[in-house]
Amino acid sequence: MTNDKKDIRSMTLAELTDTLTDMGEKKFRGKQIFSWLHSRHAASFDEMTDLSRELRKKLEETFQLITLIPVTVLVSEIDGTRKYLFRLPDGNVIESVLMKYKHGSSVCVSSQAGCRMGCRFCASTLDGLARNLAPSEILEQIYGIIRDTGEKVSNVVIMGSGEPLDNYDNVIRFIRLLTDENGCHLSQRNITLSTCGIVPGIRRLAEEDLPITLALSLHASDDESRRELMPIARKYSIREVISACDDYFARTGRRISYEYSLVKDVNDSEEHARRLAALLRGRNCHVNLIPVNPIKERNFRSISRTEAQNFKLTLEKYGINATIRREMGRDIQGACGQLRRKFQSEETVYQ
Ligand code: SAH
Repeated sequence: MTNDKKDIRSMTLAELTDTLTDMGEKKFRGKQIFSWLHSRHAASFDEMTDLSRELRKKLEETFQLITLIPVTVLVSEIDGTRKYLFRLPDGNVIESVLMKYKHGSSVCVSSQAGCRMGCRFCASTLDGLARNLAPSEILEQIYGIIRDTGEKVSNVVIMGSGEPLDNYDNVIRFIRLLTDENGCHLSQRNITLSTCGIVPGIRRLAEEDLPITLALSLHASDDESRRELMPIARKYSIREVISACDDYFARTGRRISYEYSLVKDVNDSEEHARRLAALLRGRNCHVNLIPVNPIKERNFRSISRTEAQNFKLTLEKYGINATIRREMGRDIQGACGQLRRKFQSEETVYQ
C-alpha cells in the first residue's frame, strides 16, 4: 500500500461498521457504504451521492480507496475473451482475463504480483514474487472489468499469476468479501481456487467451511517427473498432495479438479496417462487437460489436439473423467503471466 490510510475495500462489513460508528456515524452507514464498494463497484467516494458532501470528504481523509484502471485491454477476435493489464497503486502491474461462456462470464484473477513457486513452464514466476495482493486488489480486477464491460460475472477462478495459498489470509478475505450477501454476492460454489499443492494450505482451506472448488495442479504422475516441472514437489510428494485433496473432498463434498498441462515428450505418453489413471482411481474427481502454452524462455513444446484427445481417451478407458481445456482467446492470450512480462520489459526499454 502506498500510504497509511486504511484500505476500505479490504474491510469486512463488521469492521467497516465499527470504524464508522467510532467516527460518530450511524450504524446503517456501514451497509450503505459496503454496498457502494462491493455491489455498485464505486470507483470514487464522490460517486456515493446519497452520502453528504461532508461525510464523503471525511471518508476521503480517513480511507484509501483502491480502484484499478486498465492499462491495456486485449480483445480476442475469435471469442471475445478480454485480457486486462491493471496497474497497482505502487506501480506493479497484474493480469486478469474475462472469458465469456454461454452460461455466463468468468473472470480469472491474479492473487500475487509475480510468483515464487518456480514452475518450469509458467511465465508468471520467471522474475519471482514482487508482492502479495491485498484483498481489494484481487476484488478490483473483477470490479474493474465489470465497470469496463457492464458484464454480469457469474464465475471467478483464482488461476492468474501467483499462488493463492502463498497469500492465504488475503485470498480468504477476498473470497468472503466477494460472496458477502451485502455486496457482490457471488455464489461460493462458483469460485475455483487453483494451487500448485501446498499441503498445509489445502488442509487449512478445508477447515474454512467454504464450498469452493479446489483445482490441483498435478502435471505429472510420478514424483520424479513432478519435481522436474514443479519445485514445490520437492517439499510434498504426490501421495501427500492427493491425500490432502481426498480430505478436502471428504470435508467439503466438492469434487477436486486435477489440472494436467501436457508437455510434449515430458508427460504426454500413454504410460503417463495410465499411471495418472491409477493414481486417481476410485476418486470422484475430474482431470482438466491443458495443452501447454509454450513460453519463449523455455523450450517446452505443446502437443496436438489429436494427441491430447488420445491422452483423454486412455484416462477414460480407466474410468477417469477428463476434459481438454478449451483454449480461449488464442490470438491474444500468450501464456499465463506473459503479457505482464512483456509490458515490464517494454517499460524498461522505453523509460
Ligand atoms: N499457482 C496456482 C495458480 C496459477 S496457474 C497453480 O499452480 O495452480 C493456473 C494453472 O495454469 C496451473 O495449473 C498452472 O500450472 C498452469 N499453467 C501455467 N503456465 C502454463 C502454461 N504455459 N501452459 C499451460 N498451463 C500453464
